Amino acid sequence: MRHVTVISVTVLPMFRLSIVFALCMGLLSNATLWAQKPPAEPQGYTETPKLPGQPWRVHDKYRPRPQVIKPADEIGAPPSDAVVLFDGTNLDAWAVGRKGDEFVAAPWKVEKGYMEVKPGSGSIFTRAEFGDCQLHLEFATPEKVEGNSQGRGNSGVIIMGRYEIQVLDSFNNDTYPDGQVSSIYGQYPPQVNAARGPGEWQTYDIIWEAPRFADGKLVKAAKATVFLNGVLVHHGRELIGPMAHQETHPYSPHPPVGPLLLQDHGNTTRFRNIWYRPLRTEEVPWLTVEGGEGPGKGKHVVLISGDEEYRSEEALPQLAKILSKHHGFKCTVLFAINPESGIIDPNYSSNIPGLQHLKEADLMVIATRFRNLPDWQMAFIDEYVNAGKPMIGLRTATHAFNIPADRKYAKYSWNNKEWLGGFGQQILGDTWISHHGNHGSESTRGVIHAENKEHPVLRGVSDVWGPTDVYGIVNLSKDASVLLDGQILKGMKAEDAAVEDKRNNPMMPLAWVHTPKVPSGKEARVFCTTMGASIDLQNAGLRRLVTNACFWAVGLEDKITNDLNVEIVGEFKPTMFGFRNDPKFWPEQNLHPSDFAK
Ligand code: MG
Repeated sequence: MRHVTVISVTVLPMFRLSIVFALCMGLLSNATLWAQKPPAEPQGYTETPKLPGQPWRVHDKYRPRPQVIKPADEIGAPPSDAVVLFDGTNLDAWAVGRKGDEFVAAPWKVEKGYMEVKPGSGSIFTRAEFGDCQLHLEFATPEKVEGNSQGRGNSGVIIMGRYEIQVLDSFNNDTYPDGQVSSIYGQYPPQVNAARGPGEWQTYDIIWEAPRFADGKLVKAAKATVFLNGVLVHHGRELIGPMAHQETHPYSPHPPVGPLLLQDHGNTTRFRNIWYRPLRTEEVPWLTVEGGEGPGKGKHVVLISGDEEYRSEEALPQLAKILSKHHGFKCTVLFAINPESGIIDPNYSSNIPGLQHLKEADLMVIATRFRNLPDWQMAFIDEYVNAGKPMIGLRTATHAFNIPADRKYAKYSWNNKEWLGGFGQQILGDTWISHHGNHGSESTRGVIHAENKEHPVLRGVSDVWGPTDVYGIVNLSKDASVLLDGQILKGMKAEDAAVEDKRNNPMMPLAWVHTPKVPSGKEARVFCTTMGASIDLQNAGLRRLVTNACFWAVGLEDKITNDLNVEIVGEFKPTMFGFRNDPKFWPEQNLHPSDFAK
């Protein structure tokens, strides 16, 4: 134990790169991958009691289904979702140290499907870092028995570079109990000595929960459940701190991930078949932002993101936070979720979990593009529309849906011929026509439409500008009141001059309100703007316009003042619009709705 290389807190920054690597590889999804393909019609219940402390009902029909994985044919072999750290062929996933930014290759011997400690070469550690996990590995202490006590077959499985589950030849070899094989070194002996003999392969299965720190203090101790050779030796054991020899060390704050370290203690102990699976927690596939005080208190806004280009998954959480934190609305933000992985994937056009929230919504804000949702999801939208409740459409919502003609809700499609122009034209006021300004090179200034300058939605609104281009709007509903016209600018800066050609004469409508008759015969308050990329929301004028529109839509127009608070709330790092067609892009982002809670 004395020769162990403990990775100290000060050394840890050198592992940052591998965290990024691990994130890129999607290895750290401790928030997880719960879900599977949405069924044609999910089984379950909708009227059962709420489960205490959970957002779900008993037998909830809409609860995401656990991801399907393939168990290994043999117990102990890696299942399909395992991250294999050593498969018996090479030590590419390991290092013995770092030189600058480079890992130094692990020098231990690899042969016949196992690795063997090269005494004196140093402990080796994984290049990837991870935290909460199920860890499997196999080890064998030297067949030839030499030394005694801590000197016989000593090595160690040192989780996060700090917490040691001891490896030792404990077959007819007395040592201090908190230092024998499968002890939590220096803290707890195993419940029983389940050791096999020298040279025999033995297995570790460890359930590891990393400690948690907040404000520099421990808030949750590390916890280990350990099986040695299939025998339980520690059950939910809380560690008292990092491993230490002849003393105890207190916890010191560190990240929730770290490398796995195998100890060189001078004995030729062998290892094979090393893998882990991140522990999964059930991710709620939408974001709830509880309302505070303000005129919106008691009202529920459901915001539906899901477009491939304009980052509505960034825009709508920010809008929700403005509505909630500054004005009291309760907001639920929905996302395009890839049901295979459980992550946000705007390119996955046929799954938006959580649309059932529309049943109790007072306002729907939609910014989807060409979605082809299953019938049971569309049913919630159809029911909401027919209730005549208010709606707000942003940017691509004019072409929110693209549903094949043979499907039940095909009429919602942007190009439907019977319900002409579908949801966009019939409800929002127009459908997809064209880019009128040049996409990506001519930005847009919002010019107040003089005739309607007294409309409450325009109260306090000025200097509306966004990097997105003006959309062609040529069939705008006759009853619509245009609030802003879109002036095409020569460049991508707010101060750029307007282009001087006929495209600005007349200008296209950029934002409008109207009250369409929905298919049930009711009338609904509707606001729509063809702006609304996440990057557009950096503009305070646009944030004010949309915030005012939310007030107006739910009948709070009397509460709209010239200076409603539209300050950014929390973290907002909008990215430039554009398609992300690389199939690896969204998996690498590994985004979950909870990531937008900050
Ligand atoms: Mg050891």
